[in-house]
Amino acid sequence: MTLPKTPSFRLDGKRALVTGASRGIGMACAVAYAEAGAHVTFAARSADTLSGVVNEVRSAGYQADAYALDVTDTQAVRDLFKGQHFDIVLNSAGLARHSAAIDTAEDDFDAVMNINVRAAYFIAQQAAKAMIAQGTGGSIIQISSQMAHVGGIDRAVYCSSKHAVEGMNKAMAIEFGPAGIRINSICPTFILTELTKPTFEDPEKRAWIDRNIKLPRVGVVEDIMGAAVFLASDAAGMVTGTSLLVDGGWTAE
Ligand code: NAP
Repeated sequence: MTLPKTPSFRLDGKRALVTGASRGIGMACAVAYAEAGAHVTFAARSADTLSGVVNEVRSAGYQADAYALDVTDTQAVRDLFKGQHFDIVLNSAGLARHSAAIDTAEDDFDAVMNINVRAAYFIAQQAAKAMIAQGTGGSIIQISSQMAHVGGIDRAVYCSSKHAVEGMNKAMAIEFGPAGIRINSICPTFILTELTKPTFEDPEKRAWIDRNIKLPRVGVVEDIMGAAVFLASDAAGMVTGTSLLVDGGWTAE
């Protein structure tokens, strides 16, 4: 009898691109890919911050480079994918501007949609286009949110943007599947980062978070690293068009 062998969780020999990689969830996922053996391109707008991060990653013995990119600049996104080979593309660049729906300003709506939906869409488009040209398949991962599955206080804009990510992923999974390209999202609960600092500092919102996460703590960026590696790896070879909730049980009720 031949025993089944667990497909590898390692990413040796793979090339990964991570956007929003200068801090927060994106940086953690990029580090996780480097630890798993991939060569990782860390992308974000701030070249200085990126080079500091990449220097540390290299000092730790991993393979990494930095790429200054504004994900809302579609031409810059096209240029990045021109002539570069990526097996894994994780998009974590994102924005939150919260307000009651009846008070939402058009500028806030447009800014959030521009990055969370429009940029996510065209990054996935260009990633898939390059992967199809390579003929080697690949894995595309969007950092979505638990707010792609439920509503939240003052979060009509943010929820709209993240629900849209789930929709695009499903339709793209149908289209990209025959080329061996998988596309999924990770849906985190509240994770302590610069983005969520104002929410964590608001006592009412903090109580709301503590009430809804079923585990006895809030999320930290390390909670997302394993999910990112799993979805990028051969271990997730049959997983596409879906989302992996890392929500501490928030959506369980
Ligand atoms: P963060 O700490 O604010 O980090 C955002 C990252 O994105 C930074 O590296 C930032 O670097 C980069 N970025 C922002 N705008 C960009 C642009 N236009 N082009 C390129 N890079 C850009 O945020 P985070 O908490 O890690 O959130 C990352 C993602 O997770 C977002 O999509 C967010 O919606 C989602 N999420 C977060 C939580 C949470 O609780 N933190 C929960 C669920 C989902 P530069 O400013 O240098 O460009």
